[in-house]
Amino acid sequence: MAFSVAPTAMAEPAPQEQAETNQNLQDISQLACYICDAPVAMVTRVDDAELNFIAKVGLSGSSVAAKESFCVYAMEAPDAVMVVPDATLDSRFSSNPMVVNSPGYRFYAGSPLVSPEGYVIGTICVFDYQPKQLNQRQIDSLQALSRQVIAMLELKKLSEQLHLTSLTDALTGANNRRAFDQKFDTEFARWQRTGQSFTLALIDVDHFKSFNDSFGHAAGDQALIKVANLFQKHCRNYDFFARYGGEEFVLILPGTDRASAYKTLEKLRMVIANYEWPLRQLTVSIGLASAEKFSDKKQLLEAADQVLYKAKTQGRNQTGVFSDS
Ligand code: GH3
Ligand code: MG
Ligand code: MG
Repeated sequence: MAFSVAPTAMAEPAPQEQAETNQNLQDISQLACYICDAPVAMVTRVDDAELNFIAKVGLSGSSVAAKESFCVYAMEAPDAVMVVPDATLDSRFSSNPMVVNSPGYRFYAGSPLVSPEGYVIGTICVFDYQPKQLNQRQIDSLQALSRQVIAMLELKKLSEQLHLTSLTDALTGANNRRAFDQKFDTEFARWQRTGQSFTLALIDVDHFKSFNDSFGHAAGDQALIKVANLFQKHCRNYDFFARYGGEEFVLILPGTDRASAYKTLEKLRMVIANYEWPLRQLTVSIGLASAEKFSDKKQLLEAADQVLYKAKTQGRNQTGVFSDS
């Protein structure tokens, strides 16, 4: 079999990038305060009836009802900065709770965030407790900051998409080998740290070369997609399924001992065997080993591979279980 441990998986980039984006938005809010000489600034995003603060300076709370916000008015004119010099003199805001009650805002300026597709998705805005005006340079600067926020959010979106793509198998849409390596590392480290074991199952489609030879590579691809779909549909949602490579798949069953993993895998094996394949019946052979008693993840993988090999030599379409006795 071709199963072998890859070098230690790379650290996941997403959480760190998330933190960097948050810090950048926070910095931009602070710049908005400096530019407009205002004590309060925030970057907001609309979400149905809520306006969420995705970065903020000088206030507590994390959202406001859209209908009570100043920003929804600012968002009506995507290309302009809306300035409210004194909210008590503006009929739209004079009875607004944020004006009448605490915190007693008087001044507002907000620049809409316009996505590259032309949608207004939120604002960058400032508040003050005193009435005042902004000069043209301050208005232009606030508008420039709104463009910077959009650039940052777009970069974040792209990086998230890239991250997801880097962990997804292009053919089947399942987790790929890289995603498996990360998950395997995580589960193995958890097992060593906390004693919560898991079971590893290696799955190999039987006689797949002859399937390809008989029906062509394109039909083989469709069959692999179906195998992956069936496994994903029928495994438990806390199990981790991935394409390991070629016609080989892998399932990690966290918190599951050998005996119950065997039951689960037998059920999955039968799902494949009983499916009405349009061209020719397909089956899989499975090798499983529990992390218990292994202090090295390479040995765990080799143990599962060893029983998979045995399942193959004993006739295929069966599940082999590693037992150390
Ligand atoms: P066994 O029961 O011993 O596993 O036999 P097998 O024929 O499945 O194993 P073998 O390793 O000889 O062949 C695997 C085949 O899987 C050969 C290869 O062309 C095919 N394969 C691997 N990846 C893909 C793929 O992405 N698409 C298609 N269509 N075939 C693939
Ligand atoms: Mg194989
Ligand atoms: Mg095979």
